[in-house]
Amino acid sequence: NGHVRFDNVAFGYEPERIILKGVSLDVPAGTSLAVVGPSGAGKSTLARLLYRFYDPTSGHISIDGQDIATVTQASLRAAIGIVPQDTVLFNDTIGYNIGYGREGSSQEAIEEAARGAAIDGFIAALPHGYDSMVGERGLKLSGGEKQRVAIARTLLKDPPILILDEATSALDSRTEEAIQSTLSAASRGRTTIIIAHRLSTIVGADQIAVLDAGEVAERGTHAELLAKNGL
Ligand code: ADP
Ligand code: ADP
Repeated sequence: NGHVRFDNVAFGYEPERIILKGVSLDVPAGTSLAVVGPSGAGKSTLARLLYRFYDPTSGHISIDGQDIATVTQASLRAAIGIVPQDTVLFNDTIGYNIGYGREGSSQEAIEEAARGAAIDGFIAALPHGYDSMVGERGLKLSGGEKQRVAIARTLLKDPPILILDEATSALDSRTEEAIQSTLSAASRGRTTIIIAHRLSTIVGADQIAVLDAGEVAERGTHAELLAKNGL
């Protein structure tokens, strides 16, 4: 499960300024869709609509054939995991941060999630390192390590649908490459919506949609888009 569909979805944060102008997308369960396009095109807005931070002005979004407007907030959140661009951590251990909001998770499950995100050596460490009481446990996490915590949180949640909202955009290209393989492993078997502006991050996606000024300007596989553009 995890079949995501956008049917003719229109939306504006303000009624007089339409951001999405009838977007239709079909993401079969377990496949990946990369949404690319210039800044301001409405890519993150698509993700916000799927998570129901906002509702479309018209059109429908469904998961496994069910309109998300009719699904409880709790089951929608259970179905979708998000790795955002910047992850803000509490000043507590990495293990605590991974388990936060996942009350009742066993220590084993937290460790397994940490392993899946390749951050298992850090579980007892503190992220910010500004607490003078923590001594050698204090640790300042890099941007890449923070993203690994976000990935581990998602693995712990184990959702059928994963949104990567510019998850590697804030990282330098070497760190991005390292995180990329962790993300591919984390997204295996899940419906994954990748929001990106760098082509390098989406070559492996099953389909790519180019969003421009609130409309799907092009769609296809990476190879199809290259061929269509004579490359
Ligand atoms: P992208 O992710 O493609 O860069 P966004 O979906 O973030 O684009 O934004 C699309 C448009 O919506 C932009 O013009 C942006 O300024 C506008 N926008 C985004 N969030 C809000 C908001 N909360 N209120 C009003 N306008 C917004
Ligand atoms: P939760 O922690 O509620 O189970 P997730 O693990 O999927 O959900 O989300 C991680 C965190 O990111 C949550 O606190 C959520 O509110 C936040 N979040 C959700 N969407 C976005 C977004 N587009 N950008 C930044 N943060 C987001």
